[in-house]
Amino acid sequence: MPRPLQEQKVLQDQVKEIETLVVDGMDISGHWNRMFGQRVIFDYDYDNLMKVADLPGGESLNWCYGCAKCTAVCPVDIVGDYSPRKIHRKTQMGIDLFKSDDLWLCTTCMNCLRVCPKEVNMIQIMPAVREQAVLNGGVPAELQKAFEDTAKTGNPLGQPQRKRAAWTDKAGVDVPIIADLGRPVDILWYVGSYPSYHPRGMDAASAMARILTALGVDFAILGKEEKDDADSMRLAGEKGLFEMLAEHNINAFNKYEWNEMVVTGPHEFNAFKNEYPKYGFERPIFHYTQFLVRYLDQLKDLMQHEVNAHGICRVTFHDPCYLGRHNGEYEAPRQLLRAIPGVELVEMGRNRENGYCCGGGGGGMWLDSFTKEHTQMRLSERRVLEAVEYQATVLSVACPFEVSRFEDGAKSTGNDQLKVLDILELIDKAING
Ligand code: SF4
Ligand code: SF4
Repeated sequence: MPRPLQEQKVLQDQVKEIETLVVDGMDISGHWNRMFGQRVIFDYDYDNLMKVADLPGGESLNWCYGCAKCTAVCPVDIVGDYSPRKIHRKTQMGIDLFKSDDLWLCTTCMNCLRVCPKEVNMIQIMPAVREQAVLNGGVPAELQKAFEDTAKTGNPLGQPQRKRAAWTDKAGVDVPIIADLGRPVDILWYVGSYPSYHPRGMDAASAMARILTALGVDFAILGKEEKDDADSMRLAGEKGLFEMLAEHNINAFNKYEWNEMVVTGPHEFNAFKNEYPKYGFERPIFHYTQFLVRYLDQLKDLMQHEVNAHGICRVTFHDPCYLGRHNGEYEAPRQLLRAIPGVELVEMGRNRENGYCCGGGGGGMWLDSFTKEHTQMRLSERRVLEAVEYQATVLSVACPFEVSRFEDGAKSTGNDQLKVLDILELIDKAING
């Protein structure tokens, strides 16, 4: 499109060139030394961009200089049309992010921030804008329901608080509740909402209980005193709910004596390690892979069953965004997997720092139908296809969000032959057969 006449005139006025110029014997006359003054940009209305940039946490959207490094790594762009660069450009062109569906598609996976030369930080921008959208009642219905269930029952699955430890009945080993023990314990195990209530999460929780017992660890859980960590609620814009549950959990943690805390999920790990300290809680926290890897020699002695007796052989691992990119842990899960008899570990193309995202972070766990309407396929489905492409027979995970997400993805893409198993389940099979 030709430039507007007014703009052309300004450009002409700003052209500066010296008619005759020789420097160090080199003739750089006329257009060879042509310079332009700074151009006035006429075609952008910055109001919607500045509405974001003016929010505390939203500033960095305005730092984007359009290099597009982020677009190449954004997992949502691989199944759709998305990245910080595109968000920046759209707001520059007048789109109101506060009312746009784009606001809910970012999973806060952090791959863009990893490569961005300008440190445009979607992990801060998205919660800041979403918080305003939540206040104005502009939240997709399925996410709103998760907020309400969490506020009412203490977990996003809407299950009764008193049944939080009901899964222990089927664990096959004694799972002590710290209040009942009446003594200090070495390890406080924060189980988490999905391992407490979701059928596949409960499988992993039971496996963890059996492994801790086999290792002779002195542990206990909080039972009905434990509530959701709510980090995903915070990232989805419900900071008030996050603060309410953080206060509850911190009081419960501080009520008892323990040395270290082990958590089942990377989101809880991130919450307790990086967010709860802002509210006065700072204690040693470990993801279960980091904790179990300390017992690697003992585990090797205990794992006497070849897991490929179950038809399992080529195992690939999906790095959870909140264990890997957000908290830098890539080795512990792989060390555990390599130690399991019968496991052949194969890496997918997107692994470690550039690992793909399952779509469950930043509130995405409760936005599946919404996301599906805006992308060619769910991120979990895309990841399943990658695992199949690498001929894996098992997609192993270390996050309670992922088992159900990938199992659904395996079914919906017609890849039922791909088994999805938590690393805990693989270790448990190797120990107990
Ligand atoms: S990588 Fe950063 S600077 Fe480059 S386009 Fe993306 S957000 Fe903008
Ligand atoms: S955080 Fe992840 S999903 Fe969000 S824009 Fe960046 S790369 Fe894309």
